[in-house]
Amino acid sequence: MSRTCLVCGMAVVAPVCPKCDSVIADQSDGSTVTVDIAHQGETVRQAMKKLDRSLVSVQQGRAKWLRVIVGSGLIREEAIAHLTSAEFRGDVQQVEMPVANRGQIMVQVKP
Ligand SMILES: [Zn+2]
Repeated sequence: MSRTCLVCGMAVVAPVCPKCDSVIADQSDGSTVTVDIAHQGETVRQAMKKLDRSLVSVQQGRAKWLRVIVGSGLIREEAIAHLTSAEFRGDVQQVEMPVANRGQIMVQVKP
């Protein structure tokens, strides 16, 4: 599967762009992917699974941020604990909880 080099626009299959030497895996388009894990009647367990799957898919893609919609209940508490320990382990770059919007958590994924 080829990806488009964000620096020069070339379609690249190799891990490093042959045209401009950019490391393809390190490229991010700076975008944000949003996932709602709390409003389809999920159990806490289902919500955490959904969160993990989303993290993996964002890490494999180009986005820089994952915005996790967590609502206000138990799922929020679990998601904060889950993501804080992921940050501590270094699995994600950083975790931010916007003061203005307590229903969401911003996760910056590793490049
Ligand atoms: Zn390139």
